Amino acid sequence: MEIRARNVRKEFDRYPALHDVSLDIRSGELIALLGPSGSGKTTLLRLIAGLEFPTSGQILFGDEDASTKSVQERNVGFVFQHYALFKHMSVSDNIGFGLRVRRKGRPSRAEIARRAEELLELVQLPGLGKRYPQQLSGGQRQRVALARALAIEPRVLLLDEPFGALDAKVRKDLRRWLRELHERTGHTTVFVTHDQEEAVELADRVVVMSQGRIEQVGSADDIYDRPESPFVFSFIGQSNRLPVTVRGGEIAYEGTVLGRTEEPDGRWQMFVRPHDLEVVPADVPGISGTVSLARRSGGSRFAEFAVPGRGERIELELPAEAGGEPGTALNVRPRRWRLFAEGA
Ligand code: ATP
Repeated sequence: MEIRARNVRKEFDRYPALHDVSLDIRSGELIALLGPSGSGKTTLLRLIAGLEFPTSGQILFGDEDASTKSVQERNVGFVFQHYALFKHMSVSDNIGFGLRVRRKGRPSRAEIARRAEELLELVQLPGLGKRYPQQLSGGQRQRVALARALAIEPRVLLLDEPFGALDAKVRKDLRRWLRELHERTGHTTVFVTHDQEEAVELADRVVVMSQGRIEQVGSADDIYDRPESPFVFSFIGQSNRLPVTVRGGEIAYEGTVLGRTEEPDGRWQMFVRPHDLEVVPADVPGISGTVSLARRSGGSRFAEFAVPGRGERIELELPAEAGGEPGTALNVRPRRWRLFAEGA
């Protein structure tokens, strides 16, 4: 099911939680809404669900205007971070719940039980139908919640930080598992997260949100390698920001030419990722300083130094065996960067 938001605005007591948001979600796509707390992710998800209605603008399901339709009419499946299962019901009964309360076309008891068993296999919990929620782990419960959402054969699956309450290892496993499930079932899925790694790993496309607006929509590569704003650059990974001047195609920081650009003369901000800084000999024009902090992460070392006489701190990522311990004098040059106009 294709979903479109058209110039959607949502106010709560005149406070705009979403400004003029437009977004096209393709049929069968797994899309992540990513942004910091308060950026409007959940509000957009609830508007798609029919749990909230837009102050202005439209939500379209295919060609049909769903803006004023109820959750049931839209036929969406949900999973929330704390989507408590019914404690007094077995896993099977939890999964079948949406089918049992159907007003029209309610399947028989046997049919519901068969469907619950099928879904338990799909979410890789075969045979656990007779258990009760408190006899399951957190990760198993969220998979049951997902099976319950899928039971009604929703047109769209909406997930709001479904793995948020689980520990890092379980989260990672469930992410991979959800991606595989999506590939098998092909539901149009909208997933809310504030974890950029989760968004990038899971989604076909990521919608980056900030302050009630969409900053960028793109693949993991788009938002990582071609961020369109300083916000996206910094939110999506680690970054260094240097105030530079461009003159005649030369980019200069503190009088040192660091590279060339086609951009016009003026003041710019140069954004560089830690792994895009290269250590060069001391006599090559670069940015130099003495490492004050270093930390190991996997096979890399993140080393940090402050530029003497300036406020900027430079963080670079080096192979662990390449040195960079505190006290080392380093001179670095950027290999890759993005320039944004000052004040962007
Ligand atoms: P989080 O990651 O913290 O859940 P979010 O990106 O999902 O954040 P939303 O929950 O969509 O953000 O909230 C967006 C803004 O709208 C926030 O400033 C929030 O306080 C406000 N807001 C959301 N729901 C309501 C409501 N029912 N009444 C009043 N204000 C609301």
